[in-house]
Amino acid sequence: MIVAMQDRATEEEIQAVVERMMEIGFNVHRTTGTVQTILAGVGTPGAFDHKEFEVLAGVAEVIRISSPYKLAGRSFRPEGTVVRFPNGVRVGGDEVIVMAGPCSVESREQIFACAGLVKAAGAKFLRGGAFKPRSSPYSFQGLGLDALRLLREAGDAHGLLIVSEVMEISQIEQMMPFVDLFQVGARNMQNFNLLRELGDVRRPVLLKRGIAATIEELLLSAEYLLAGGNYDVILCERGIRTFETYTRNTMDISAIPVVKKLSHLPIVGDPSHGTGRRDKVPAMARATIAAGGDGLLIEVHPNPDKALSDGAQSLFPEQFAELMDALRIIAPAVGRTLQPS
Ligand code: PEP
Ligand code: MN
Repeated sequence: MIVAMQDRATEEEIQAVVERMMEIGFNVHRTTGTVQTILAGVGTPGAFDHKEFEVLAGVAEVIRISSPYKLAGRSFRPEGTVVRFPNGVRVGGDEVIVMAGPCSVESREQIFACAGLVKAAGAKFLRGGAFKPRSSPYSFQGLGLDALRLLREAGDAHGLLIVSEVMEISQIEQMMPFVDLFQVGARNMQNFNLLRELGDVRRPVLLKRGIAATIEELLLSAEYLLAGGNYDVILCERGIRTFETYTRNTMDISAIPVVKKLSHLPIVGDPSHGTGRRDKVPAMARATIAAGGDGLLIEVHPNPDKALSDGAQSLFPEQFAELMDALRIIAPAVGRTLQPS
């Protein structure tokens, strides 16, 4: 149940509603938008008549939520969520945000070269895997903690935020000093224990759609994070597995407007994993922004042919710069901005 308070509701009125919701057995999540306070009751309350809330002082509207996700639904924050980062970067605002870098951190030289080139083209985040979820145990597994140190150093040197994948609970503490945004990979979208732990931290999470997950399942996974009190969640469409084999995955661009309608959470697109083929990445990146995506996660490598993972889908530096120029033309056409580099 969502209780939307009147614009001028007093703190006492809000508290009285919160108390009544708790008496019934709800866990109450509160969000204050630009005009009104919204109270979301989640959990399994005892029997009650929601009309009772309509007549409480200061209440504007009571909405019964039929979808299984409550906090991830748009009615919790009708105006949309903006995830704010320490240096003033905002995901979900007017500006389209690009996160770019190699699939994996491979060496000091490689990650510094990447940081320099993605920054010069206008990216705001440096991405790079430290713990890699690889289909084969014989493939490169990532440099672990060393990679995190290098990422932070390279990011700080170039004024970039850091996003990197967390694969298990024990890595959360270890990663805290090094990442601004925890990436939960497609394979872990339904690792509910990991999601619960990340719900407890106060650091934003980039939640990627599972390879065979429906949009509802994606939003339910986000719900785990929100229910824990971590409201700083960014969703990521990275392609799903279909019967098509020409591309590595099928980039579900339609998920973007669907999520925008169903949820208040920002959503970015990952056309690198979405297509698996470098020559298809720019088109799907442009489509992501045209469809209303809040940003992009893109693999770029100074020398993709030598990459230790995902070289075939990593852009050459010039391709990335060219793509960013194209996005600067598309963004204003759909009411967004992308700063000049
Ligand atoms: C990645 O971003 O490198 C990655 C492994 O992504 P996904 O979880 O979407 O496969
Ligand atoms: Mn990758």
